[in-house]
Amino acid sequence: MNLIFLGPPGAGKGTQAKVVCKHFNLEHISTGDLLRSVVKSNSLIGEKTREFMNKGLLVPDEIVVEIVAQEIKKNSKGFILDGFPRNLAQSEFLESALSSADIFLNKVFNFITSPEKVVDRLSGRRVCPKCRAIYHIKNMPPLEEGICDKCAGILAQRDDDKEEAIKERLRVYKQLSEPLISYYQEKGILCDVDGDLNVEPLFGIIKEILEI
Ligand code: ADP
Ligand code: ZN
Repeated sequence: MNLIFLGPPGAGKGTQAKVVCKHFNLEHISTGDLLRSVVKSNSLIGEKTREFMNKGLLVPDEIVVEIVAQEIKKNSKGFILDGFPRNLAQSEFLESALSSADIFLNKVFNFITSPEKVVDRLSGRRVCPKCRAIYHIKNMPPLEEGICDKCAGILAQRDDDKEEAIKERLRVYKQLSEPLISYYQEKGILCDVDGDLNVEPLFGIIKEILEI
């Protein structure tokens, strides 16, 4: 099974992808996470990547596409693409990469999310830099404030979860990523889900759709 999770920043794609991947034994391919590792690598390309990300802009296609191609090649059990594709050029790249590897997309879940929810989720989000667990100061707080439940890492706010970058990410989503909704609708594999729902009820719905 190969899926795409599409939706604005703050739609809860990453959190939901972790749950769905665990249940169905899929690989979670998060371009955001992969790019954050590139940034940490302290290379020239990492430095360039950091600049785009911190401003809330898309990282250039040639960097992202290369990373995704590698992940798809490595994968043997099916995947969720979380955060990719994010513009039409990326979706066209994906289409040719998948078809030349004889891989098919089963579904694209479109997380429909209200603007208020998005801002609330992003501004309250905290992440563990060590194990990448995701928390929210109100909706999903850790047992001990500021400390990761899973690995005791010190939780942090992402640089691009600050107000200015959030605005830019939402603008970029509207302009570049939203057109993908009709792209996948025309292919007949788009499935709208309510991104405002909490993790558990939304998982129930996605699970039911995938088990049909
Ligand atoms: P969110 O979806 O909440 O914005 P992500 O962690 O998915 O968070 O992405 C964070 C940032 O990483 C984006 O704002 C962008 O700079 C970069 N990024 C992630 N995926 C892509 C992609 N497919 N193409 C270009 N840039 C990307
Ligand atoms: Zn952790």
